[in-house]
Amino acid sequence: MSQTENKFEIRATISPSDKEFRSRISVDVWERIKSKALRDDGFKCQGCGFEPYDVSADKVLDVHLVEENIINPEDSKFRTECMLCHMIEHADAAISNEYVILVNSKFSQGELVNICRNRAIPSNIEDGSIRILKKTLPEFLEELKNGKALEGKVKLIFTEKYLKRLDINPF
Ligand SMILES: [Zn+2]
Ligand SMILES: [Zn+2]
Repeated sequence: MSQTENKFEIRATISPSDKEFRSRISVDVWERIKSKALRDDGFKCQGCGFEPYDVSADKVLDVHLVEENIINPEDSKFRTECMLCHMIEHADAAISNEYVILVNSKFSQGELVNICRNRAIPSNIEDGSIRILKKTLPEFLEELKNGKALEGKVKLIFTEKYLKRLDINPF
């Protein structure tokens, strides 16, 4: 798939477990899948556009399982994502680890990821471009699970806890 067609818009979801998928295939197959996905996606995060330039792509980019092909796992659908966007695709894990805060914003989820990466959250909260929601994480998780979460209404920003864990370099 080329990067220009079907522009993907990242949003909080509960995705199938990559770990379980990987446990069903060999390391070699996974390595092959990963390098093909990275190449197909131009070594660029499909959620926020992040493109590593000073570190090796396979260290900072993940390959996310979008849809599994049970018969031939290698033909499953994958997407290259930075670790931040990947966390959003697994919102259930992000929520249970308290790695995220729920917000409302004029910015898209992909833009919010870049704002977190650039450590520009406080100024955007100050000017009202990002509003922290009163809704609790368990409430939102419940909405996601039963399909009641309004598409793209609730967005996620990252807590210090997660950003520190990733050792995000603001440059
Ligand atoms: Zn990203
Ligand atoms: Zn994933």
